[in-house]
Amino acid sequence: MSKHILIVDDSKTVRNLVAFIMKREGFAITTAEDGLDGLEKLYAAAKVDLIISDVNMPRMDGFTFIKTVREQEAYRDLPIVVLSTEGQEKDIQLGMSLGANLYLVKPAQPDKMVKNIRMLLG
Ligand SMILES: [Mg+2]
Repeated sequence: MSKHILIVDDSKTVRNLVAFIMKREGFAITTAEDGLDGLEKLYAAAKVDLIISDVNMPRMDGFTFIKTVREQEAYRDLPIVVLSTEGQEKDIQLGMSLGANLYLVKPAQPDKMVKNIRMLLG
């Protein structure tokens, strides 16, 4: 069965691009347009194997989203990748301290992103 990736980003362009890249790699994809939508999609899914999340989003930002996910026992080991334009050291440190496994700065190289995601999925 295909690994299932949840892509959370308020930019439709980014969602579609990342979804396209990941589908091409054989992954099953669900997209969400902000942190709250991401939580709803996560809870509704039978299984999510990895999350790719933006930081700057309306309603619920990526840091709050990651913190909320990571605080729950069921998602303690769920790999989370941040994909953000915010590439300052303080942002990266915050993301990692909240429980992200990897922090990629946009625009990320598709090859590198896929390679890292495969590694996180084991
Ligand atoms: Mg955004």
